[in-house]
Amino acid sequence: MQQVVWKGRKINSPAVMLTFDDGFRDLLTIVAPILRKYGFKALVFAAPNLLRAEGEEGTAGEIDSNRAFEAFMENGDRSAWLSARELRALAGEGLIEVGSHSLSHAKAPVSAEHDVTDLRHWSYHPFRAFGRAPDLRPELAGPVHLASLGRLEQENEFKARVEENLRKSREILSEVSGHTVSSFAWPWGEEPEEGAELVAKSGYELGFTLRRGSCRRSDAPHSLPRREVKRRKGLQWFKREVDTPWWRGLAGR
Ligand SMILES: [Zn+2]
Repeated sequence: MQQVVWKGRKINSPAVMLTFDDGFRDLLTIVAPILRKYGFKALVFAAPNLLRAEGEEGTAGEIDSNRAFEAFMENGDRSAWLSARELRALAGEGLIEVGSHSLSHAKAPVSAEHDVTDLRHWSYHPFRAFGRAPDLRPELAGPVHLASLGRLEQENEFKARVEENLRKSREILSEVSGHTVSSFAWPWGEEPEEGAELVAKSGYELGFTLRRGSCRRSDAPHSLPRREVKRRKGLQWFKREVDTPWWRGLAGR
C-alpha cells in the first residue's frame, strides 16, 4: 500500500489487503494457519494496553469480540488478546505487519452527567443489551469531558491528547513487534474531523477508517476506506464487495 499511495507504483491486477483490528488471539490459532496455507499476509492493528500478560493463559479457540471486550471491562481479562511475545513472533515470521489501534481502544464520557470513575459498565454492559446508549464516545473521536476541570476538552487539548496517544502507541508497538509501525486504524472506526492530519503528524504513513469502499489512487493516504467483513454478511456479500471494476480500484489510472 505504501508503495502505491506514496511512490505511485502500479498494480496491474486487482489486489486485496487484509487488515485485522484489535489483535485478538485467534489471529494466532485460526488466522495464521490460513495465511500460511495461502501465502497471504495481514496488517494487524493492536492496542498496547490490551496485550495479554505473558503469564496469563490465552483463549485457544474462536473469539467473540463483544464478549472479549466485556470480560476485559468487567475483570481486566485479556485472555482473548495476543501477548506481546505472540505478536512479535507473528511479525517476525513475516506473516503480519503490526499497526496501531491506539493505546487502549477506550470510550470516555462527553458530559458531566456520565462522569464516572469506573467506566466499565458504561462502555458496554448492560446498556447495549437494552439499547440504551450512554453518553460516551470513542475517546479519540472528539473532545471528552474533563472531570477534574468540569468541562469539555478544548480543541487544542483534544488534538494534543490524540497526537500523544498515536505517537506513544506507535513507539510501543514498534518496540514490541521489532518493526517500525507505519499504519494506524481508528478504534471503533470513528475518525475525528481532523483525523488524517493527526495521523500524519504522529508519524504514520497510512491511516485506516471504517468508511466503506475500495482504495483508489486518489485517496488521501491518511484516511483510507475499508470494507468490514462480518460472518453474517456471508460469502456472496464478500464476493460482490471485492468485485470492484479495475478502473475504480488501485490498479486504475
Ligand atoms: Zn477495534
